Amino acid sequence: MPTYAAPIQELIDSLGRLPGVGPKSAQRIAFYLLDADREEAMRLTRAIIEVKDKVRFCERCFNVSEAELCGVCDDDRRDAHVLCVVEEPKDVVAVERTGTYSGRYHVLGGAIDHLRGIGPDRLHIRELVARIGEEDITEVILCTNPNLEGEATALYLSRLLDLPGLEVSRIASGLPVGGDLEYADELTLGRALEGRTHVGGSPAVPPAPEPTATEAPPSVGGTA
Ligand code: ZN
Repeated sequence: MPTYAAPIQELIDSLGRLPGVGPKSAQRIAFYLLDADREEAMRLTRAIIEVKDKVRFCERCFNVSEAELCGVCDDDRRDAHVLCVVEEPKDVVAVERTGTYSGRYHVLGGAIDHLRGIGPDRLHIRELVARIGEEDITEVILCTNPNLEGEATALYLSRLLDLPGLEVSRIASGLPVGGDLEYADELTLGRALEGRTHVGGSPAVPPAPEPTATEAPPSVGGTA
């Protein structure tokens, strides 16, 4: 085992703890930074500090945000009665890229994963249920990842949210199974959103119109 000077070893160890970075990559990045000019290395350092100091979570939907409310929650042109439920803030970006969605979001902060001991109580599900009443939500689109954990989460939520006056749908299949939303291209994800299927709840029934001379009264039961 080669041993590096302590500062280099410390950098390699820190990089190696990042997701998706193995020991070899950690070593390669560390030596790249050692070689890079000071300004480039400082830019990375500043970006890390900025993100830790300035970015927090939206108080309403748990998306990443620089203010109390994220850009989507703060935009009154968005449909306030439709929620797209996703696992992580990066999934908000994936859905936004499709350009086909105009409602708001709710970020769960992960997915139900019994093997890792992540139950519903570890996710922002209580807050989701509260929002449905408080914000007069009429439609919830379950946009969790098309993998085992994402499907388990969608199934759990479809049962939990089986409420009158609330349409609950799941994005269509067609996304690569086992994958992550972030890897789906805009077109595929856009189609999956448009082709979503009803999985629970019941859409709000508009009050029956007063029968008029030109309009047949709504049939109640009986034969068609
Ligand atoms: Zn928000």
